[in-house]
Amino acid sequence: MKKKEARVITCIICPVGCRARLTMKNGKITEIEGLECPRGEEYVRRELEAPVRDFFTTVRIKGAVIPVLPVRSTQPIPKDKIMDCVLELANVVVDAPVQAGEIIAKNPLGLGVDIVATRDLDRVKER
Ligand code: SF4
Repeated sequence: MKKKEARVITCIICPVGCRARLTMKNGKITEIEGLECPRGEEYVRRELEAPVRDFFTTVRIKGAVIPVLPVRSTQPIPKDKIMDCVLELANVVVDAPVQAGEIIAKNPLGLGVDIVATRDLDRVKER
């Protein structure tokens, strides 16, 4: 039989930064105190049960003035899939030109999100 444990998590949804005091039993939240609104409770439950993060990285690009293209996910991805996503994109090489918002990788890892360019990169004229 596991005993009760207490945790504190700061809500980062808005600048107020409420500190949630959680009581947990067997890994489940049994009580939450200290939050000012329901958005905070939703954040805390998601953060403990299925945390997600916005995902940013770079991929290689050929024919542009710089060798890397900054990219991001169209939606947050599960926190525990971030490294898998980095590895999945490690071998991606795109050709310039690229426009911001262009899909660079369609639904990598089957996560239901795409990876898009976050800036334009023109093709460099060959001399
Ligand atoms: S609980 Fe509500 S008021 Fe408090 S930080 Fe989160 S979003 Fe802001």
